[in-house]
Amino acid sequence: MPNGGSDCCGTCWFNRANGGQAGSSNHNHEIPSYCEIRQLEIENPFYTYCANHPYNRSERDPVPIGPVYVGVFDPDALNQHRREIWKPAPDESEIREHLLRIVADPSQHERGYLLSSPSYVRAIEELLRLQETRLIGALEQLADDPRVADARDDILEMAAAVQERFAGDAG
Ligand code: SF4
Repeated sequence: MPNGGSDCCGTCWFNRANGGQAGSSNHNHEIPSYCEIRQLEIENPFYTYCANHPYNRSERDPVPIGPVYVGVFDPDALNQHRREIWKPAPDESEIREHLLRIVADPSQHERGYLLSSPSYVRAIEELLRLQETRLIGALEQLADDPRVADARDDILEMAAAVQERFAGDAG
């Protein structure tokens, strides 16, 4: 497996070169890698990543969640393998609605793969980047869900911080 993590396009069922299946054993090196949900040619599939990978979205979620990342190796850094944003996600109203649903619903909060951020974290990051003010309501809705009662205060604190940040950006 590549050192950057196995949650890569090379093992993703949305990569045309994998024929709709997950796992590196399904990867056909003769077929150019192409992300079917982002309409993106993937030059280096075993070092390219996103939050829609099956490890993070086991229900085969085809709506882009946040950017696509590439792996970078820096032998001098403490963290020699890191990921940098390569391509941002498209910004469409349906995508924003989807991200808001992921944030508000604890059943969407899959832990996923340990080397990458969970998809709900990527959804929050993306909504922050887009300055989507409905993120505050989605976090408050999440906080009201009894399934996350233990984390209620932390989530409300986050909602307040987001509100403050948006107010600061507006001012
Ligand atoms: S960009 Fe994401 S969804 Fe597309 S093939 Fe790569 S890991 Fe899968």
